[in-house]
Amino acid sequence: MERKVHVTSSGRTMVTLIPGDGIGPEVVSAARRVVEAAGARVEWEERQAGASVFKKGIASGVPQDTLESIRKSRVVLKGPLETPVGFGEKSANVTLRKLFETYGNIRPVREFPGVRTPYSGRGVDLVMVRENVEDLYAGIEHMETPGVAQCLKIISRKGCEKIVRLAFEVALAEGRKRVHCATKSNIMKFTEGMMKRTFEAVAREYPQIEAQHIIVDNCAHQLVKKPEQFDVIVTTNMNGDILSDLTSALIGGLGFAPSANIGSEVAIFEAVHGSAPKYAGKNVINPTALILTAALMLRHIGEMTAAVAVEQGVLAALEDGVLTRDVVGDAGAVSTTAFTEAVISRLGRKPKQAKVREYRPLSLPSVSSAPDFVKVARRRVVGVDVFVESTLPVEQLGKSVEGLVAGSPVELKMVESRGTKIYPSTGTMTDTVDHYRCRLMQRDSAGDLTEAQVLEVLTLVGAKHRWMHVEKLNEFDGVPGFTRAQGED
Ligand code: NAP
Repeated sequence: MERKVHVTSSGRTMVTLIPGDGIGPEVVSAARRVVEAAGARVEWEERQAGASVFKKGIASGVPQDTLESIRKSRVVLKGPLETPVGFGEKSANVTLRKLFETYGNIRPVREFPGVRTPYSGRGVDLVMVRENVEDLYAGIEHMETPGVAQCLKIISRKGCEKIVRLAFEVALAEGRKRVHCATKSNIMKFTEGMMKRTFEAVAREYPQIEAQHIIVDNCAHQLVKKPEQFDVIVTTNMNGDILSDLTSALIGGLGFAPSANIGSEVAIFEAVHGSAPKYAGKNVINPTALILTAALMLRHIGEMTAAVAVEQGVLAALEDGVLTRDVVGDAGAVSTTAFTEAVISRLGRKPKQAKVREYRPLSLPSVSSAPDFVKVARRRVVGVDVFVESTLPVEQLGKSVEGLVAGSPVELKMVESRGTKIYPSTGTMTDTVDHYRCRLMQRDSAGDLTEAQVLEVLTLVGAKHRWMHVEKLNEFDGVPGFTRAQGED
């Protein structure tokens, strides 16, 4: 699929430039200078987002003219944006990623010359490909009772397919041999399991790439123990958030970690790090992450020569021992601007030892735009889970619900608390809270519960118990679309 860019009348690619908060303006200025010095044909349109916008009372942190600029340019280079602490405003970063459906977060890390870490000499060189818009980051949270909170983990087959295909395309574009998929599918069989199953299906289309699934906790363990075994890792949003900070630490920290948020329509390029407010305006921070982010952007817009020149400039400067405070401490460190100038003076100079990969343009995956992406031949509702708030002892609650639904199309199969069956009693020592799930299955095992029957069940249970939500128990093509509770037979 072709990437979308806006080429101006002067033949330059338009890029929306967002300086951001804290150290943002310093790193953005560094990256801009390097891109211009590399001769890339870019036309910047500067726009605001983040703290200054929140202060104006715009709750999203992203004003209309910024959104309009992005809609036109389709390419953004941005500094970090502060997230206000509290319940009101949401992260402007996440808002931008979601508004433009940048579903793939690409975070490459590699060993840098002159940057000593416990892993130096091991040749760490990998790319994390993190799903960027789904999962717990859908941000759907509810207080179910005054003392029980819930966050929904939304994973779609379509979202999995897009990110998995992107990971394989990254591997092809960068001449990499292996893709690992890191999930917690052993525990979350539907959500994380969907990522695993999609990975295994899509991998068949890329026989030239070795595909391997790994449980995410072992992936964290292996990344610390033997990171050089990894080439590309694809994973869900929350896993990727944590693993990618870990991988940043392997190569010298956040000052060296670039990232790209890729969507079918828009791409947003930003460093992994935040606004590091204590360093704002001090000219001491490391601009490498955003300079390398700009190189990712240059590759995206087809400025391959300039991208290589920038990467070479950074590697050559580091090889020459030009290092910022985060690497060498105060003694011997150069300033942000001095580092930037060192890169500019070495643009396109082949590093003595460090290698620059040969990149091919990344081919963006094309996935059906149909909302009902996965079709089934047969479906039916075999029961309902009704979640109720109750302070009754569970024996009393169970008997009460059994009585309430007597004569209805469903019967109580079990009551659970926080995922473990506690009624009928299994004699376990499970602690309980005031949040219960009553699993009500159809009496007619071949039937299909209607909408009216679901409402009838809710009315019956709701007559005596406060319910928070209900989940239909679907069966798709004869396969149950719900998991058992711990201890449920
Ligand atoms: P942070 O800004 O990334 O800073 C954490 C620490 O990382 C800094 O104190 C510093 O470590 C080091 N660091 C980060 N960038 C560096 C650089 N370029 N050069 C050298 N060292 C660097 O994380 P935070 O303090 O958790 O977050 C601050 C604000 O940024 C928050 O409002 C957060 O929401 C926001 N944020 C935004 C983004 C984004 O825009 N994409 C991402 C993350 C966080 P030392 O203290 O050890 O020197």
